[in-house]
Amino acid sequence: MSDRYCVFGNPVGHSRSPAIHAAFAAQCRQDLMYEAILAPRDGFVDAVRRFVAGGGRGASVTVPFKEEACLVAKRLTDRAKIAGAVNTLVFEGSAVLGDNTDGYGLLRDLTHNLSCQVTGKRVLLLGAGGAARGVIAPLLDTQPAALVVANRTAARAHDLAQRVSRADSLGACGYPQLAGQSFDLVINATSASLGGKLPPLPEGVFAAGSLAYDMMYGQGRTPFLVFAGRQGAARLVDGLGMLVEQAAEAFRIWRGMRPDTTPVMAMLRAAEPAPSATQ
Ligand code: NDP
Repeated sequence: MSDRYCVFGNPVGHSRSPAIHAAFAAQCRQDLMYEAILAPRDGFVDAVRRFVAGGGRGASVTVPFKEEACLVAKRLTDRAKIAGAVNTLVFEGSAVLGDNTDGYGLLRDLTHNLSCQVTGKRVLLLGAGGAARGVIAPLLDTQPAALVVANRTAARAHDLAQRVSRADSLGACGYPQLAGQSFDLVINATSASLGGKLPPLPEGVFAAGSLAYDMMYGQGRTPFLVFAGRQGAARLVDGLGMLVEQAAEAFRIWRGMRPDTTPVMAMLRAAEPAPSATQ
């Protein structure tokens, strides 16, 4: 019988993870099955238990369960502990390991796929939810000149900055306080694009030559990317590359081999109904 893996989310119907892991498995000649499981918002733990009882070997975790997944794991990797969010679970008998590959995925996409070096840059991170928590420490590790986290609920941005407060270059604020500041890299880690909304950004935050990165994928030009383009950002990128790279890191954790992400990204781009990212 094939080894079983899945992604838990709510909603989860839009997830590309089953197609990505099927492509990785074919490429690496691994006998596995990967499905999308819609867990009830108040039934994540039960859904995980049922999956493990049915022989599940590992799982990806997406919105809104990443924080709850920390409680399911008996052991957390350092990067999951720092994030306080888990996107990858490994089931080994009764032992459950929780990891977070989002930061790896974002940095790999930026530096390897997009040739965008973060070191020495002014970086703005929008949002303070699970996705922002996963990427803030890896971003700081690359030593940007400044990293500002801005959130609609400013207190959550301050809490997040305090969690990882180890650099003078790290700041936190609400959106109005961004007025008059500009950044080389602006990362949208809010869920605003899911609802077709634009975070309330003041004009002028995109420096000349800047890169605008929306973690959302598969939605075409999101309001954030449209706004960034109008405001002079030079490169507009969606989160498909991050999605594939974080999945490749999860696949490595589960199967001990790293797939080549380039053909998988090309396959997903080809399947998109309309161009969704321009670089
Ligand atoms: P959460 O629900 O944990 O956090 C949502 C965040 O978005 C909060 O900071 C919230 O602010 C903010 N927000 C929501 N609506 C708005 C709005 N209209 N204007 C401004 N801010 C808003 O979600 P996640 O952090 O888990 O996910 C965020 C996004 O990142 C999702 O779209 C998800 O699909 C994407 N993602 C993509 C990945 C990839 O691999 N490409 C990986 C992980 C996530 P407040 O605190 O004020 O409520």
